[in-house]
Amino acid sequence: MLAYLQPSSFRDAMNRRLFLGVSAGAFGLSRLSAAVQAAASPYRRPKLKITGVRTAQVRAHGLQVHVRIYTDQGLFGHGEATDSAAGAPPLIDGFRRFLVGQDPLNVDLLWERLRTAGIFAGAQAGQYVTALTGIEIALWDLAGKALGLPVYQLLGGKMRDRIRLYCDSQTESPDDPEAPKKIQSIKDLGFTAAKIDIDDFSDPNRWDRVNWTASNGEIENMVRKVAFMRESLPKRTDLAVDMHGRYDMTTGKRVARELEPFKLLFLEEPVPAENVDAMRDIRESTGTPICCGENVFLRHGFRAILEKRAADIIMPDLQKCGGLLEGRRIADMAHTYYVPFAPHCVVSPIGTMASCHVCAAVPNFLVLEWHWIQRLDLWRSFVKEGDIIDKGWVTVPDRPGLGVEMNEEAARKAQVPGTSWFA
Ligand code: MG
Repeated sequence: MLAYLQPSSFRDAMNRRLFLGVSAGAFGLSRLSAAVQAAASPYRRPKLKITGVRTAQVRAHGLQVHVRIYTDQGLFGHGEATDSAAGAPPLIDGFRRFLVGQDPLNVDLLWERLRTAGIFAGAQAGQYVTALTGIEIALWDLAGKALGLPVYQLLGGKMRDRIRLYCDSQTESPDDPEAPKKIQSIKDLGFTAAKIDIDDFSDPNRWDRVNWTASNGEIENMVRKVAFMRESLPKRTDLAVDMHGRYDMTTGKRVARELEPFKLLFLEEPVPAENVDAMRDIRESTGTPICCGENVFLRHGFRAILEKRAADIIMPDLQKCGGLLEGRRIADMAHTYYVPFAPHCVVSPIGTMASCHVCAAVPNFLVLEWHWIQRLDLWRSFVKEGDIIDKGWVTVPDRPGLGVEMNEEAARKAQVPGTSWFA
């Protein structure tokens, strides 16, 4: 429990606990939650005030910004933002004046205020929404801890106990001498789905560094990689393929059609998702399911994709698209089109668990990404609960909040040099 507390707030919480007659021997978070609830309205709604917001930066798969929101009653919430997060720490510094003194349980009100305050400052997408996402996740963790409930409960309850992950394979080529070892480790870890990348700027068949049309030789190599992985993985293991939005319409259509015999779980972003009509044209041209949206923000970004039937599957990144409740809204919007929800995810066990709470709560969840197979030591030590994945699945915890707590000694091994640590 100590790690949830600031030193001065800890004393305050202790005094309150003693005042409330809470057993000094029972020192768990649930007891602190109970104490916070006791210091509450007649209807047992906790009365908390935000006292501070601090960040720390980690570089694992790209940059992750960890956000902590502190309160006057000792509890704090922890969130994580990624990808378009380089500008998050200064943006969060600017958000602080909207947050300090506020009731953190009004999560959506605080989110809406920060969103609308930034309408002329980029709050439609990108860095601004990513920074807001880190705040939003920390607020849900905090709300869960204050109420003594897991975040999935606050998002509507649980549809499933376990979340299925797919492993980003970090290998895809028969020419990779490490491929057999890496593929074996995916099997040993028990994953039921994997994803490979087939975009390759160093392919010798590429005639032009700038033009987005793949040559016949490049497309042959793409198909060869998919065939290799399909043969190497068990038949029951689903295979997804990512093109990272690096190609044009011609290439996207050709590759999607050539990959039809492999019955992929999905083909991800053959073209960038920014032109919804182009994505729809590719989707209409093929039987390969098309997935997109890791760089799309907010409900507003997904509205056109869904309305125009541009994707078979959507993949918002819940550590940048607006947050957990926004993720649930996007999933619900997709569900009205019978479109499944397969979030992009490259973050630590803290952000991954945050995503799992949303995946547990929505009906149309398909599969969640996992991208740390080359950082297993860091992954397994990053939170005090140890490895949250068992045979390719995450069991959603019933502990209050997100249900995982950073192991700072391990996490600081990946701290971005020269940055402050929740200071
Ligand atoms: Mg991708």
